[in-house]
Amino acid sequence: MDLTILYRGPLASCDYDCPYCPFAKRRDSRAQLTADRAALERFADWAAAQEGDRLSLLFTPWGEGLVRSWYRRALVELSRLPHIRRVAIQTNLSCRTDWLAAADLDTLALWCTYHPGQTPYDRFLAKCHDLAARGVRHSVGVVGLPEHLEHARRLRAELPEQVYLWVNAAEGHTYTDAEADEWTVLDPLFPYSRHPHRSAGLPCRTGESVISVDGEGTVRRCHFVRAELGNLYDGSYRGALRPRACPLAVCDCHIGYVHLETLPLYDVFAGGVLERIPAPDVLRDTVSGGRGGIVVGMPSPPP
Ligand code: SF4
Ligand code: SF4
Repeated sequence: MDLTILYRGPLASCDYDCPYCPFAKRRDSRAQLTADRAALERFADWAAAQEGDRLSLLFTPWGEGLVRSWYRRALVELSRLPHIRRVAIQTNLSCRTDWLAAADLDTLALWCTYHPGQTPYDRFLAKCHDLAARGVRHSVGVVGLPEHLEHARRLRAELPEQVYLWVNAAEGHTYTDAEADEWTVLDPLFPYSRHPHRSAGLPCRTGESVISVDGEGTVRRCHFVRAELGNLYDGSYRGALRPRACPLAVCDCHIGYVHLETLPLYDVFAGGVLERIPAPDVLRDTVSGGRGGIVVGMPSPPP
């Protein structure tokens, strides 16, 4: 079967300290890091053994994973396996990049976020150019706070043209139409992020072809619905996979609503759903020099 898995283990530490961080960060003790490593390696071993399935994997740590050797190793090793279609991770890109040389770059991808105030702009930009030179699939994004707008404009102008820059609507922030337009110039898909998506009762691929797994192997349909579907390691989740409607009122995170069947985002991000890279024919012209992008064939944004 084709299965997409979002993995989030116990890691909860980060080398950055963003004021808008949505995660309950902590300083992980040695014992907590050891537990995170064991959980991740158990998951990676399980994924490596599923040769009868085709797996797409996204690591969404509650902190920064790539500063830990076990995340880098798992990504490299999983990328080389023929039944792994994609292995990706959300990262602040603070890590070094030489380890990527050992990965299968047809399979590995990075979802990179720039956090102004946590790292010098030039250092982040140089990392992005390094990824592009290495041929690493990646998207780059920022949180759409007003104080980030100039940084985002500069990034859009100075990133390689083919690299997609996404903008996440800031949590709890509302945008006037004029403000939304400014962000949409940089990310033509920003209208999908601007408002939470009404999802109650709507069909969502999570719980059928997409699941969320924690460090214990507990399977849930997504990171946001707490009901458990079973356990990954005893196989009990399998019998629970079926089409399901969303039980929540809204879904406001890309890693959730991208799977809503009522949105066209599997077409928009065809081939890059997990790492948030639009299909080549969707973005005919990513923005260059901050002038704005032309979107071809982009379905209407949500109401
Ligand atoms: S890089 Fe991400 S996890 Fe780390 S502090 Fe910033 S928002 Fe939080
Ligand atoms: S719409 Fe969002 S919250 Fe609802 S089930 Fe899907 S991913 Fe989860």
